[in-house]
Amino acid sequence: MVKEIIRDPLFLQQKSEPATEADKQVIEDLLDTLKANQDRCVGMAANMIGVNKQIIVVAAGPFQFAMINPVITKKNGKYETEESCLSLDGSRPCIRYKEIEVDYLDQNFHKQHGKYSGFTAQIIQHEIQHFSGELI
Ligand SMILES: [Zn+2]
Repeated sequence: MVKEIIRDPLFLQQKSEPATEADKQVIEDLLDTLKANQDRCVGMAANMIGVNKQIIVVAAGPFQFAMINPVITKKNGKYETEESCLSLDGSRPCIRYKEIEVDYLDQNFHKQHGKYSGFTAQIIQHEIQHFSGELI
């Protein structure tokens, strides 16, 4: 189900907890909401639809995929950039890495490990940063 985008900074500043299989509907809702906003949004974290769980969805071209409880295990190629967020106005400076490796669970809660670079890596880093409650 497509959900409303949360823009309340007090809510967005709360930390996110690890997700469990009880959160499967949240994953569906997050994918539906990303698809509904794909003209202006390339990724979302669950807190952007009001759920403080460690779930993100990422758009890679025409495909969208979910990562549950993702943890960045390696990062390389530090750079500075600016990003904006559907939940916030304007853009903010941030530090990103060109290449990352991530441990995560897929939508079926199977363990996965992925290597990402470029724009996809940047999206994943932005969305994971939402878990810490930082406004980014
Ligand atoms: Zn964001």
